[in-house]
Amino acid sequence: MIGAILRRAKRARLASRPFPAAWLPVVARRLRFAAAFDEAATARFREHLQVFAWEKRFEGARGLEVTEDMRVVVAGCAARLSMNLRLDVFDELGSVVLVKGDLQHAAADTDTRVLGLAHRYGTVVLSWDAVERGLARAHDGHDVALHEIAHILDLKDGGFDGTPPIETVAEVRAFAHAFSRAFLKMRTAPAAQVLRAYAATNEAEFFAVATEVFFEQPARLKQRLPEVYGALVKVYRVDPAGP
Ligand SMILES: [Zn+2]
Repeated sequence: MIGAILRRAKRARLASRPFPAAWLPVVARRLRFAAAFDEAATARFREHLQVFAWEKRFEGARGLEVTEDMRVVVAGCAARLSMNLRLDVFDELGSVVLVKGDLQHAAADTDTRVLGLAHRYGTVVLSWDAVERGLARAHDGHDVALHEIAHILDLKDGGFDGTPPIETVAEVRAFAHAFSRAFLKMRTAPAAQVLRAYAATNEAEFFAVATEVFFEQPARLKQRLPEVYGALVKVYRVDPAGP
């Protein structure tokens, strides 16, 4: 309780600092999605980015040295998800481990590790190569950073169950309805898939994969799975396909 209050006070201080000028070219070059934000959205995005970059512990593994640019890039991916939510939404996340090389074929392992360490100070493990690839191919519906950070959001309400924090009971019901229907349909009729097959693993993966497609191919998701799209608009408080 006291810890949460102190963290909130510290976070507010970090949020109110000016955005470092040295980070602006990194955002412009590496986080191109942010170019579409209007002035108010840019301010929120930067606030979330800088709090994440300064507050979380970043560690390199397998010989990777984490640079300030990498920190800004990963924080920017997190801010993309959280910028319309509360600043404390990643309170449970303590550290980000960036790994050299590829973790892609060990996705289940990564998730298990996140799950295993996702108590109060959880850890997210990301392949730096995959993070870069996700950003370079901005519209293919694959983005490892969005995927893993969506899992962290999912954990916010206590469980690794595909249900992120949602504000009202009515919205929780609508979310559960849309997601369980689409998930069951995917399990029973895998041929007509909008999301990649991995989404059918369980509800948590369904939510994480749907999040990737929501941000990278919003028009396609809106057209093919309108209920899922609508539920994610409520979760992330943004409508990337536009009205
Ligand atoms: Zn996953």
